[in-house]
Amino acid sequence: MASAFAHVAVAFAMGKSLSSQFHTSRFWWFTMACCLLPDADVLGLMFGIPYEHMLGHRGLTHSIAFAMLLGLVVPRLAAPTIRYGTRRYWLFAMYFFLVTLSHGFLDALTDGGFGIAFFAPFDSTRYFFPWRPVSVSPIGISAFVSYEGMRVLLSELVWIGIPVVLWLIVLKVTGRTAK
Ligand SMILES: [Zn+2]
Repeated sequence: MASAFAHVAVAFAMGKSLSSQFHTSRFWWFTMACCLLPDADVLGLMFGIPYEHMLGHRGLTHSIAFAMLLGLVVPRLAAPTIRYGTRRYWLFAMYFFLVTLSHGFLDALTDGGFGIAFFAPFDSTRYFFPWRPVSVSPIGISAFVSYEGMRVLLSELVWIGIPVVLWLIVLKVTGRTAK
């Protein structure tokens, strides 16, 4: 995985791309949940599901299909007054789909571990992007307090942090958000 910090930073920038009228605490809680939930699959490792299995790490929960499922379900949870099929519902559906999918995209930019099963459950092939500048993150917090951990955070700062900040500046300067 990229680190949780990186996933949250990207999701935050995506949330900021929507109009501030949507920014309730529920909205932010579900934004954070969607960008982190794919890594719940590490629990599978504890139950003996191998990494390379479709249900293993970077498998089904990192797929486009899983992101679509969350995209369809989460809008009503994040904004209970939303009605199915309305423009706002579809805006939220697209948003939560992309926030969830951003997780797998970031992981596919990392230089270690297995690839991402983007097309699970139909195809279990693991994919990376051809360009993988982000150092893969260790699993667990204590691993960050080390030279290796610092190297990972530095690479994320450069390849994820700087683009996120630039994007937030663009939003601020142009004042344009999706409504
Ligand atoms: Zn992941």
